[in-house]
Amino acid sequence: MKRLEKTSTRPYPIVLTFDFEGLADAVLEVTRPSCIMIITDSHVAPLYLEQVCEKLKGIAPIYSTVFEAGEQSKHLGTVTPIYDTFIEYQMDRSSLIVALGGGVVGDLAGFIASSYMRGIPFVQIPTTVVSQNDSSMGGKVGVDYLMHKNMIGAFYQPSLVYTNLATLKTLPEREVLSGLAEVLKHAFIKNKALYDYLLEKRDKILAQDLEALEEMTYASCLVKCRVVEADTREMGLRKILNFGHTLGHALETVSNFTILHGECVAYGMVMAAWISFKRGLCTQTTLETIKSLCDDYHLLQPLQNIELDKVVAHVVFDKKKSYGQVPFILIYDIGQVDIIKDVTEDEMRQALIYTQETCQ
Ligand code: NAD
Ligand code: MG
Repeated sequence: MKRLEKTSTRPYPIVLTFDFEGLADAVLEVTRPSCIMIITDSHVAPLYLEQVCEKLKGIAPIYSTVFEAGEQSKHLGTVTPIYDTFIEYQMDRSSLIVALGGGVVGDLAGFIASSYMRGIPFVQIPTTVVSQNDSSMGGKVGVDYLMHKNMIGAFYQPSLVYTNLATLKTLPEREVLSGLAEVLKHAFIKNKALYDYLLEKRDKILAQDLEALEEMTYASCLVKCRVVEADTREMGLRKILNFGHTLGHALETVSNFTILHGECVAYGMVMAAWISFKRGLCTQTTLETIKSLCDDYHLLQPLQNIELDKVVAHVVFDKKKSYGQVPFILIYDIGQVDIIKDVTEDEMRQALIYTQETCQ
């Protein structure tokens, strides 16, 4: 078992382990709830809800609510019936929400926790690579609104993150690989040792060797926590977590979400590295290193049927929406990046062409 402490205005422990055995003790260390409401989705509930209820038994009365899995459930229409349930069960300020699932569950349950009675405690039990390495820490919670992702939300920290790495065994392989793109990102932006680890232990990580996953997740969480601690509300440094996300997000939208988020981030990181290389900020070796690690983790499938101009147009549209401030994260070396605001449309187009030609 590994444990790190997210230190900041509101510290909370992040426990990495291989089962749910220590869950009750970990919860009791941070709160003495009057009752517990587990929020989860329709894929995770049949796999883990019973086990989690069993482990929490005896602490307080336990209730659960299950919504349909998927991003399409991450909206206010899912939230309001859950508030109704809370009122029905007379949940109060000392009631505890447990978010059991991936990033969708964590963001939605965290948002409910932040807003019900002006904020009640919540615990994250992340069950995807994305949520274990990214979304469960950092305090961004929220839901999508109309066509806008994460438009309604808050900064609200959990009381505890309890990660059972063995839950990844049931996650579909494509979701695992896609999630690993965010881990690669953490290595590229801030941790050369994590890069070396990902390179050396690739086979073990892909085979889901639990010790290797624990080591990797510990290092990856540390990057996320340290960056967030320095800039919780994303005024500056936190933006480096968007490495690969500017073009990646545009690609995701233009592909109509047929290419998964992490896959798009991998293309986005290669494109950002290509722009960095062309600007003389990094060497060709750095560019090739990034591409090759993404390849090692099977993230760069051929990029077909994508209209490149639409991708660029999407970034430009985002830029207009945010008053010309869509920052690009460019790379100098593995572990060293910076925020750059003057990347041109032509650079983006060339980077897309390079990626399309080299990812065959
Ligand atoms: P997800 O929560 O939709 O999970 C992916 C799929 O896997 C779902 O179908 C889910 O039901 C299923 N699943 C989850 N755990 C499983 C398991 N152990 N075994 C089998 N199936 C399992 O997606 P995600 O990739 O975890 O998260 C994406 C969401 O996270 C997006 O909404 C994104 O906006 C958000 N996000 C938030 C932050 C943040 O800082 N708050 C950061 C990154 C992403
Ligand atoms: Mg991301």
